[in-house]
Amino acid sequence: MISVKNIVKKYDGKEVLKDLSVDFPSGKTTVILGPSGSGKSTLLRSLDLLVRPESGILDFGDIKLDYSQPVSKKLSFDIRKKTSMVFQNWNLFPNLTVLQNITTAPITVLKRPKQETEEKARKLLEQVGLGEYADRFPSQLSGGQQQRISICRALAMNPEYVLLDEPTSALDPELETQVLLILEELSKMGQSMIIVTHNMEFARSVADKIVFVEDGDILFDDTPDKFFNHPTTRIKDFLSGIT
Ligand code: ATP
Ligand code: MG
Repeated sequence: MISVKNIVKKYDGKEVLKDLSVDFPSGKTTVILGPSGSGKSTLLRSLDLLVRPESGILDFGDIKLDYSQPVSKKLSFDIRKKTSMVFQNWNLFPNLTVLQNITTAPITVLKRPKQETEEKARKLLEQVGLGEYADRFPSQLSGGQQQRISICRALAMNPEYVLLDEPTSALDPELETQVLLILEELSKMGQSMIIVTHNMEFARSVADKIVFVEDGDILFDDTPDKFFNHPTTRIKDFLSGIT
């Protein structure tokens, strides 16, 4: 499990995460919802140390980090290894093949053997229906295919948690469906995931837990059933588009 406790993050003196605490259970999919600018990406990026809060605790059970203290290179490496981020705009390396995009980090960062890493990458490509595309370059693929490859790239690092920040918001609806189906599949297989999305239908189908963030604070932290079927007035407004 990942627990964050009492996180405070400020930008220009303004608190964008306000003493926020939340758990992300292992083997489950947690979906983070909330209006634009509420702090969802900031929270997600704090888990990967892409954002550095002023204070709070990041607790993975076996390792812990106090954001207010200096962090050693080793601790930062160990924490980063536990999560893998899939970005909105997939950012594949344009000059590397699909296979190289997936294997570069495991080989260079984790020092995994090349052959084993490539075998695993090919398996992942098969799983997302792109087994034939290993030797192509990203520019020869559609956006939805590129995003599926960036999911493979994240999984190739063998992270405990896959973090996804609006993974389909840059895709056309039919390409979006391909990616969402893969994420639903991963979720069913028990991959621990934390997903920020604006797609309510997807949130409803994939989430084991919903966290609703507003103005840097957590307004709701419970089951999708409660969120969607028994919403508070505030959540009802959010769901009907009155953000
Ligand atoms: P969206 O749904 O639009 O992606 P979000 O919930 O992900 O929004 P964040 O990106 O976490 O929101 O931003 C939270 C607040 O922090 C916003 O007010 C935003 O303007 C501010 N913010 C985010 N990043 C920075 C930054 N690098 N510098 C200054 N302010 C920032
Ligand atoms: Mg965001």
